[in-house]
Amino acid sequence: MQKLSGKVAVITGGNSGIGLAYAQAFAAEGARVVIVGRRQDAVDTALASIGPDAMGFVGDVADLAMHDRLLAAVKARFGAIDIYVANAGTAILEPSSAVTVANYDVQFATNTRAVFFGVTKALGFMRDGGSIILTSSIAGSKVMDNHAVYAGSKAAIEAFARNWALELKDRRIRVNVLSPGPVDTPILAKLGITESARPDFDKSMAAAIPLGRLGQPNDLAQAALFLASDDSVFVTGVNLKVDGGMALA
Ligand code: NAP
Repeated sequence: MQKLSGKVAVITGGNSGIGLAYAQAFAAEGARVVIVGRRQDAVDTALASIGPDAMGFVGDVADLAMHDRLLAAVKARFGAIDIYVANAGTAILEPSSAVTVANYDVQFATNTRAVFFGVTKALGFMRDGGSIILTSSIAGSKVMDNHAVYAGSKAAIEAFARNWALELKDRRIRVNVLSPGPVDTPILAKLGITESARPDFDKSMAAAIPLGRLGQPNDLAQAALFLASDDSVFVTGVNLKVDGGMALA
């Protein structure tokens, strides 16, 4: 028996990196998966790697009206949602003295406001007994250089999750957070880590992470599968760090 047989999962940021790994792992366990991202080409490429029952939706999570269009399309195709994963995110790492209002706003609009309204809108389309997963970051609780705004934008969603876990108990909807440490995804290049800098970066990560290597998207996907499935049926309100122990160091 597949762990997510018959389930419908919506994953924002499902066209790249960690979200794509979630989508592939959920589909491999029988879920019908909906992925959301802004880039049509990346959505199309991702869909081809997920499987025939997957659906793509192009949109910006920071545009709150997009969520209404997304949910209407999911309802029309699949009826209702069992698993909602708020994963789309963006990071701009810089000292607080350099942060502009624009850079502050884009991180809070994408990482925080979109998660709040994405989840609260999705609740009207979710079946009781469902699972909500938020991708945060160990930066939500661990101080790291140049992370203040990003960290704040992620710490807020960890607080949302704790509140929602209790607010939704009567519907048996579980709400949990996954907090990655550094993971090998396209976000690294977006942060300016070039191909030529990668060997040194990887070496420094291997030294900083107790389990001795950078995270891989599938490390997160296996944890997400646990939180999405009935394997975690008695788990709600947790923040599961998947970081090779980095938050301890
Ligand atoms: P990624 O490969 O860059 O993926 C980010 C995803 O978010 C993409 O699918 C992107 O799609 C989507 N996205 C970004 N802004 C969006 C918007 N406004 N509307 C819709 N979709 C948007 O990075 P990743 O590492 O997989 O990141 C996934 C999550 O993990 C993020 O929340 C990130 O903060 C978190 N995280 C990552 C790491 C890490 O080291 N990789 C560590 C801790 C936490 P489009 O570009 O097509 O919109």
